[in-house]
Amino acid sequence: MLCKSSLTALSKISTFLISFGTRAYSLIPFCSALLLFLIGTSKIHAQNIPNPNDVIGFEIGSDFHLATYQQSITYFKKLAEASDLVEMRYAGKTSEGRDWNYVLISSPENLKKVEHYKSISQQLAHPQGLSREMAKQLAEEGKAIVDISGGLHASEVAGAQHIITLAHELVSKADEKKFKVILDNVILVLWPSLNPDGQDIIANWYLGNVGTPYETAPTPWLYQKYVGHDNNRDAYMLNQLESRVVGRTWREWEPSIIHVHHQSSPFPTRIWLPPFAEPIAPQTPPIVAREVNMIGMAIAQELETEGLPGAVHMGKGFDAWYPGYIDYMPVMQNIPSFWTETALYRFATPHLYTIRDFPKDRADLRVESLYSSPWKGGWWRLKDAMQYMQTASIAVLDYASKYKETLLFNKYQSGIGVIEKYKQEPPYAYFIKQKQRDPVRPVELLRRLAFNGVKISQLDKAILFEGMNYPKGTWVIPMAQEFGELVRQLMDVQEYPDLRESPDGPLEQPYDAAGWTLPYQMELEVIAAMSPLTEALNEALIPVKGIALDADQEGQGDLSKVDFVGGAGFNTNEVAAGIVPLPGSVKGSGGTLFLNPKENNTFRVVGEAMNKGLPLLYDSKTQSYGIKNANRSQIQTWIKEYAVNGLLRSSSSKTKLTSRIAVYDPWTASMDMGWTRWLLDSFGIPYTIIRNTDVVNGTLNDRFDVILMASEGPGVIENGFQKGMAPPQYAGGLSGKGTRNIESFVSEGGTLVCLNKSSDFAINALHLPVRNNIKDVERSAFFTGGSIMEVENNNQHPVMAGMPEKSSVFVFDSPVFQTKEGFKGEVLARYQEKGSPLLSGYLVGEEYMNNNAAALDVHYKKGHVVLFGFQPQWRGQPMGTYRSLFNALFYANDIPNNHKVNEEWSSTDAIQRVEGEKEE
Ligand SMILES: [Zn+2]
Repeated sequence: MLCKSSLTALSKISTFLISFGTRAYSLIPFCSALLLFLIGTSKIHAQNIPNPNDVIGFEIGSDFHLATYQQSITYFKKLAEASDLVEMRYAGKTSEGRDWNYVLISSPENLKKVEHYKSISQQLAHPQGLSREMAKQLAEEGKAIVDISGGLHASEVAGAQHIITLAHELVSKADEKKFKVILDNVILVLWPSLNPDGQDIIANWYLGNVGTPYETAPTPWLYQKYVGHDNNRDAYMLNQLESRVVGRTWREWEPSIIHVHHQSSPFPTRIWLPPFAEPIAPQTPPIVAREVNMIGMAIAQELETEGLPGAVHMGKGFDAWYPGYIDYMPVMQNIPSFWTETALYRFATPHLYTIRDFPKDRADLRVESLYSSPWKGGWWRLKDAMQYMQTASIAVLDYASKYKETLLFNKYQSGIGVIEKYKQEPPYAYFIKQKQRDPVRPVELLRRLAFNGVKISQLDKAILFEGMNYPKGTWVIPMAQEFGELVRQLMDVQEYPDLRESPDGPLEQPYDAAGWTLPYQMELEVIAAMSPLTEALNEALIPVKGIALDADQEGQGDLSKVDFVGGAGFNTNEVAAGIVPLPGSVKGSGGTLFLNPKENNTFRVVGEAMNKGLPLLYDSKTQSYGIKNANRSQIQTWIKEYAVNGLLRSSSSKTKLTSRIAVYDPWTASMDMGWTRWLLDSFGIPYTIIRNTDVVNGTLNDRFDVILMASEGPGVIENGFQKGMAPPQYAGGLSGKGTRNIESFVSEGGTLVCLNKSSDFAINALHLPVRNNIKDVERSAFFTGGSIMEVENNNQHPVMAGMPEKSSVFVFDSPVFQTKEGFKGEVLARYQEKGSPLLSGYLVGEEYMNNNAAALDVHYKKGHVVLFGFQPQWRGQPMGTYRSLFNALFYANDIPNNHKVNEEWSSTDAIQRVEGEKEE
């Protein structure tokens, strides 16, 4: 047994030993010596394969137990030491600074040539210039690279636990025919977790609560430093460090299959598999969609073979639609990529289900085409979920092994298909000029695309094309490239098919983001080429290439400051490293540096100045921020690093910027709060977190000038977790006292900034003369999902400083404001009078928006309440509206006090009146 699998490289000898059958065991000393003699450093395994239960100290998957990430890694280290089928690799750092690893599992022969197989995978993934014959040969020679992970939603605990037992099974059964074939044909890239921080956060929380009344209580904080569950909404934006580490690794391997485990199968089904429900994204490469469907069916079949009932397909609509999902976006990179959802109770606590718990339409246990073995109820334990996952993972490996050549060739075929498509149909390219309202913004977009494998060129001379002059330096994304569909997904306007549950039934509505068009969100002018590129244009295209930073060097920090993502930036990708903005500039002379808020990096400079204690001011005439007393070399550094454009002059403005910012963080693990913290940290804006007790204790005006509330419903803010749901220190919300203290904070001159849903809290709590026009309106009458709308801005107001007259805003379950009798203050942004303000996404019920406000500055006693009816920092994407949030956080003391109300914007009625007069 010991020798048998070690000898796979040495077929003759292994045949000889296998023929001894179980007696081979007695030959251990002999064959170990022989092996060492024959293959030198090869590791000995099989008998010494460590059992995870022994290493970690409990039975993995047993009730009330969870392995932490550290324990998991300890096991994998031991496994890699013991077996030459396993090799550990370093992936990068996590947001909390953990070392992050994945392992390769394959035959020792494959692992010895792993760089060669990786290069085959690369060639097939980037097929330009590769002939069909050559691709066939490579597909025959190559190995399927299958990426399986313990998932990224850490509260879906079985994923990371099953990876441990999966690895043990693969390695300890390496000699069995089924596994041997897999290990010969497949190189498994196995991630113990896609969210190591989260695995520890959840395990530590749960293990601390087991046996108490709070055993199944949810965590009062997020299971990723900033964004929790939204870690699966960041695939194309790459705002979080984890997204970049995974993205970089996937670009390194260009996997043949990506499978990510989740846990939320629709009850009572036990595992939800592809095929996915309609509609699928319009740009899905067809072969890839077919492969995903086949793999889903192969998993279902394997589950039946293993006697595991309850697999189902299709599930929710619009799931294979939004490219923010880390496990869906790779489809646009020609990778059959998908997720499965196994049933979950809570953590490692078992649960008994009876038929009485089933929904009515499932209680009769009716057999369906895609649910042919209904689950009948019973106990559901962590180890059951792990068994389903492990069977699914093995089915995927088995599929990859059987269809290895097809998978490899189809990746080539899919890439070629995209290239050919965009040689023949528009858009043929996208043009992005260097000079934009904010010249750093195109760099932010393009560096992200490049990091995700998109090729970008630059014009080496000025070109006239389709009647437009493109200066030298203009960036061009030619669409005849293998990842063209990803570009299209991000640049296009999202439109919705008229899909209904029945001919007259309600429209099917997307449950997540409905419109995400990046040029709108990022306030960029991007022009699509609608006719084929001319010869002159093609000749002027120079592929962008910079000097990539070695991934190992990234520990030194972010070497390029111009984009604001911290830690490992985009520079480990050579195309991204070559995308640099036009240099910043400083003109004029005088003691104060003025910066325009239309450039986002202005706020990073202001943040630095705040932290350094430099005096700051606001100039209402030019609507810019001034920094006094900065020395020359400091200014030069800012201009160089942040590529901002400043003006030096002497200043007479007496409007000081003095704002002590508090950020209210409820104990309900608010993702929107997390994204807000991420944004403020990324821009270096100083702030203090306040909790319920801080608010209830009062004296807020002594400590702060501004309190920010992220998007949370009023119920969550007021009540938090109900008593009994969470340990007492985390239960409850602001309650009556906290709410009264917020009221008195504003009364005494403070500024309360409410994002999106929290606006309803402020309207109720302070009895503001404002109505949320869509409150209590049914979903069939008004619905936007997460979509992009156009607004007109009151851009003379300091909160809207730097905004253009018209802009896009991202709404998601957002309020729409109407001012009522007695309103004092200003409308900051409003929807058009007639017609649909929708730019991208979904909108039913435009009449609820028309003429109403998307944001308000409500004067309340001595203070202000700024209500945002949109999400200025949603998942870190709408870079065109970050500034309104930063401006609002600085809208304290002198700035509002020295601002005069613009009568035209003094209420939603005033706008109607002025518009009406104009019309007559
Ligand atoms: Zn999940």
